[in-house]
Amino acid sequence: MSYRAILVLASLLLMAIFAGVALFGARLVDVRLQASLESEALRLKTAYELSQGELEQQMMALAGMVAADPEVIRLLKAAGATVEGEGNGSGGEEADLLRRQLYLHLRQHWSYMQKELGIRQMQFVLPGSLSFLRFHAPTQHGDSLAGLRWLLRDVERKRTAASGFETGRAYAGIRGAAPIFDSELRPGDARALVGVMEVGMAFDGYIERLSERTAVGFGVLLDPASVTSAMWENYRPPAPAEQPGACCYLLAASRGELADWMADKALPAYAGTFRNDLVDHQGHRFQLIRFPLRDYPGLQDPTRPPIGSVVIWQDVGAMIEASGDFKDKAFFNLAFAYAVTQLLVLFLVNLSRREWISQLLEQTARVKELSHQNEVLLMAAGEGIFGVDRGHVATFINPAAQKMLGYAPDEVIGNNLHSLIHALRPDGSAYDESACPIAMTLADGQARTLEENLRRRDGSSFPVQMTVSPIRENGVCTGAVVVFHDISELKEKEAALTWLASTDTLTGLANRRHFIAQLEAEIHRWQRTGFTSALLMVDLDWFKRINDTWGHAAGDEVLRHFADVLRRSLRRVDLPGRVGGEEFAVLLPGSSAEDALVAAERLRRNIENEPAMTSFGSIPFTVSIGATLLITGDDSPDQPLLRADRALYRAKAAGRNRVDGDFPDSLTPAGEPTSVA
Ligand code: GH3
Ligand code: MG
Ligand code: MG
Repeated sequence: MSYRAILVLASLLLMAIFAGVALFGARLVDVRLQASLESEALRLKTAYELSQGELEQQMMALAGMVAADPEVIRLLKAAGATVEGEGNGSGGEEADLLRRQLYLHLRQHWSYMQKELGIRQMQFVLPGSLSFLRFHAPTQHGDSLAGLRWLLRDVERKRTAASGFETGRAYAGIRGAAPIFDSELRPGDARALVGVMEVGMAFDGYIERLSERTAVGFGVLLDPASVTSAMWENYRPPAPAEQPGACCYLLAASRGELADWMADKALPAYAGTFRNDLVDHQGHRFQLIRFPLRDYPGLQDPTRPPIGSVVIWQDVGAMIEASGDFKDKAFFNLAFAYAVTQLLVLFLVNLSRREWISQLLEQTARVKELSHQNEVLLMAAGEGIFGVDRGHVATFINPAAQKMLGYAPDEVIGNNLHSLIHALRPDGSAYDESACPIAMTLADGQARTLEENLRRRDGSSFPVQMTVSPIRENGVCTGAVVVFHDISELKEKEAALTWLASTDTLTGLANRRHFIAQLEAEIHRWQRTGFTSALLMVDLDWFKRINDTWGHAAGDEVLRHFADVLRRSLRRVDLPGRVGGEEFAVLLPGSSAEDALVAAERLRRNIENEPAMTSFGSIPFTVSIGATLLITGDDSPDQPLLRADRALYRAKAAGRNRVDGDFPDSLTPAGEPTSVA
C-alpha cells in the first residue's frame, strides 16, 4: 500500500471518528433538551396542582370562618324554617327579609373579599341543596342544586368542610364549602345542620398570580358539555361560538397566547391525556403542556370524564436556542479539534516518513559502501575467488583468479565451471563432476578445504589450495564461493626438501636413511609377492690411499665417478644408495642369486675398466662386492645387510676387486668367491 493511500485512509478514519463523535454529541444534546423539557413539564404540572390544593384549603378555611359567624347561623336557621313554611323554593316575604338581613350582614365582608382576596362567588344553601342566597348573583335563589352540586351534597351529608373544582349555575371554579351548624346544643343529639356556605375564587386572578410567580402561562379550558349542562347562559365563560373553531370554553388564561392559539386552531390535537408539545407562535417557540382537569364529582367517581383541561405554556425559544448555540459551539470546537488533529497526524506522519527515508538512505549508503568495500577486496585480493550458482555455473570471478586461470571474465561467467577448469586431471584422465569438491559442497552445503589441481585456459594444470564455502539463503544452499591460491612453488619446495632428505648430495644417490627405508619396503613387498630380490654391498678398495695420494677433493671426484658408473651399470628398477663414506648398497628387485652375481660382476668390471677422470688426473680404482638374497625370515633390513657385509668382507679378505655371495647353500657355497680380479 502506498504512502499516499495510507494517508488518505488514516484521514478518512479520523474524519469518520470525529463525525461519529459530532453526531453522538448532537444526539446527546437533543436528548438532554428533551429530558429537561419533560422534567420542566412535570415540574409545572406539579406546581399547578400544589397551588390549586393550597387554594382549596384557603377557600375551605374562609368558608369555615363565615359559617361560624353566630349571626349567619341564626339567620340561616331561621331561613330554613321560614322557607319550609313558605313552600320551599325562594320562600315568601319572610324568607326575602331574612335573605336581605343576611346580605346586609355580610355585604361589607363580601366587598372586602372580592377586592382583596379575589373571591368571586359566595353562596348560602339550605339543607337539601336549596340555594338561599348568592352574593355574586343576588337575584338568583330558590333553585335546587341537588344532583348538580356534589360538593354541597357531600358537606351536608358528611357534616364536614370540603373543597374542589366544580361547575355551578353561575360560577365554575375552585370552591371551599363548610357546614353551618345550629349553635344550640340539644341534649343527646348532635348539633343540627342549618345550611352550607361556600366561597369560590376567580380563576383569572388565581392563575394570574400563579403566572407572575412562575413566569409561565396558565389557562383552563372547559368542555362544552360540562358547561352547557350546568351553567346558566348569562354566567357561562366565552363560548366556542364566539371563537370559531375553538374546541372549548376558555374559563381563564393568564396570558393572551392561549386565546390566539384557539382562534388560529394552533393547539395540538388533544385526546384527554397528558401532552407536552412545542408550538411556534409569532416568532416564538413555546412549550405547551396540557393535562385533564378533573372536577370534584370526577374525583369522587373516576368513571366520570374530565370536564376540561389545564394548559400551561412557556417560551422556550431561548432554551432551545441555547441548546442550538451549544451544539453549534461544540460542533465548531469539534471541527477545530478535527482540523488540528488532522494537521498533527499529517505532520507526524510526514515527520516519521522523513525519518524513515533518511534512515533508508543512510542504510542504502552503508550497504553501497560495504558492497564497494567488498568489491574492492574481491578485486584486490591476491587469492583467486570465483562464485558458482547451484548449477555449478560461474557467477563472478576476480582479477587474481582470471590471471591464474588465463580466462577473461566473459569466458567464464555464465558457463559451467567444472568443464572449464576441472574436467581433466593433471595426468589427462577425466575428472567426474560428482567427485569435484565444489559439486559436493553444492550438494551437501558443507564447507571444505583441500588441495586440488586446476586447468588453465592453455591446458596446463597447477596445484592449488582451495576453500569451498556454501552460500546460504534462508537455510538453502544457493551456490558456493571458491577461494584458491597457486601452490606450485610450495609443491616444488616440498619436492626439493623430499629430494634433499632422501638423497646424498655428493653422489646424487639415495642416502643411507632413504635406502634403508626402501629396503624395508622391499622386504615387505617381497614377503607379499614371493618374488626374490637381491642386495649388493659395494666398498671401494684402498680408498684411504686415494685420499692420501690425491687429496680429499680428488677422493670426492672418484666417489662421484663411481656413482656415475654405478647408475649406468644398473637397470631402471634397481636402487643404488650410499650407505657409508665409500660404501654403497644396491637393491635389485626381482633378481635371483645368479642375476645378482652377474650384475655385481658387470659393475666390478666396469669400474676396473673405467678409471676416474678427475681434475687431478686419471685415477684407477677397484671395488669389492658382497651379494645376498632377501630370504624368508628377514624381518628387518639389518639381516640382509649383515649377510651382504659378510660376503663383502670375504671378498676383501680374498684380495679385493672381486665379488662374493652369501646365498643359501643350494646356490653358491658360502665363502667361495665367484670371480677374482
Ligand atoms: P679397504 O680396501 O680395506 O676398504 O681399504 P680402505 O683404505 O678403503 O679402508 P677404509 O674403508 O677403512 O677407509 C675408508 C676411507 O675413506 C677413510 C676415509 O677417509 C675415506 N672417506 C670416507 N668418506 C669419504 C669422503 O666422502 N670423501 C673422501 N675423499 N674420502 C672419504
Ligand atoms: Mg670402507
Ligand atoms: Mg674401502
